Amino acid sequence: MSFKNFKFDPKITAGITACGYTIPTPIQKQAIPPILEGRDILGLAQTGTGKTAAFVLPLLQRLLNGPRKKVRALIVAPTRELAEQIHADISKMAKETGLRSLSIYGGVGKHPQVRAIRNGVEIIVACPGRLLDLLNDKTFTLSAVEALVLDEADHMFDKGFLPDIRRIIKQLPLKRQSMVFSATMPKEIRHLAENLLKNPVAVQINHTQPILAISHVLFQVAKEQKTSLLKSIIKEEEMKSTLVFTRTKHKAKSLALHLQKAGFSAASIQGNLSQPKRQQALNGFKDGTFKILVATDIAARGIDVKGISHVINYDVPDTAETYTHRTGRTGRAERTGQAFIFAGQEDSKIISLIERNLGKKMQRKTAPGFAFEPKEIVVEEKRKRFQRQIVRKKKPSTTGRGRNQYSGVFSLAAGRNRTAHP
Ligand code: AMP
Repeated sequence: MSFKNFKFDPKITAGITACGYTIPTPIQKQAIPPILEGRDILGLAQTGTGKTAAFVLPLLQRLLNGPRKKVRALIVAPTRELAEQIHADISKMAKETGLRSLSIYGGVGKHPQVRAIRNGVEIIVACPGRLLDLLNDKTFTLSAVEALVLDEADHMFDKGFLPDIRRIIKQLPLKRQSMVFSATMPKEIRHLAENLLKNPVAVQINHTQPILAISHVLFQVAKEQKTSLLKSIIKEEEMKSTLVFTRTKHKAKSLALHLQKAGFSAASIQGNLSQPKRQQALNGFKDGTFKILVATDIAARGIDVKGISHVINYDVPDTAETYTHRTGRTGRAERTGQAFIFAGQEDSKIISLIERNLGKKMQRKTAPGFAFEPKEIVVEEKRKRFQRQIVRKKKPSTTGRGRNQYSGVFSLAAGRNRTAHP
């Protein structure tokens, strides 16, 4: 199947060519025909599947005819980065159409956004808070909106945006086309979709399954060794562009600084940064100024940076789904990528959930110099060695392998041994 089958206007075909797309992805094959027919859509698809083009291309086809300089399509996204990304994709695809899109979100001044709306746009890509803000200010109305897209709906729910979404929906005309895209379907999103969508067509692409083109490798490592391991892997592997995930904002910042000081080309992106600073980090990563971007999970969704070769889970994610979102930053649109996860004994529960989701065990690897032995084995080994030493009445060895890596484990073992063998 090719894009020709959809019979897009030549101006849109020019946009598809400009993006370098030749064959529609599975979600595009499924979703474009019903969207072109004006049907409502419930799309279960994660980022990386080509879902943005799946809704943008038919939207552009619809908007080609009809009035200009009126807000006729509204796309709502949970993060500023995703809104900016969708807006950038639209600008490329719509290049020849004369249709204009605008992204609106908080953290930056309102006035340029107000001015741009007043100059006239047909598509708005918005985060819920700033959108409501501008609607309350009566900057514009949603009365001419013909099509609504809620993207990453599950993430909007996670961020507590559903009440805002309901307020926005109330301001939309009843006669419209609506689409909801979500990587997962918690019951709150199902309810929202049931209320919002009329007789929707459901399209689904392996929604819980991580992207197949990615290989998943688990490095068993103690907490205090993670930074050294990271540096060693970055040096060893051929890493073109690496996204590193940490659990906290503070860690993202301090790890990026540490890497910079160690001579690596790194930046961080996390919630404490101002919007211009976030964008600066992201742009630097996109254009190759920084080879490593250390991020919290705000960067896990929606961000589309071409050619990310590695995603490193420096800290394990909270859920298996977050792992899917994080690792979906590589292997995008059927390219291959590598996902690494650093895990210790304490992470065994989340690892088994991730592996259940993957449907297979991750490959276990040990980087040279970072030998990891499960705690029980280390303790047992230490106990046996201690017994042998007593029998031989020799001074205890001070060259314990892994002493530095597992000092915590060893002192625990030594403590136990002292009690057991006073
Ligand atoms: P998305 O899931 O919309 O974030 O898209 C993921 C990536 O796939 C983006 O880099 C898109 O530019 C790219 N993409 C979308 N559709 C296609 C296609 N038909 N062929 C190749 N790449 C595509």
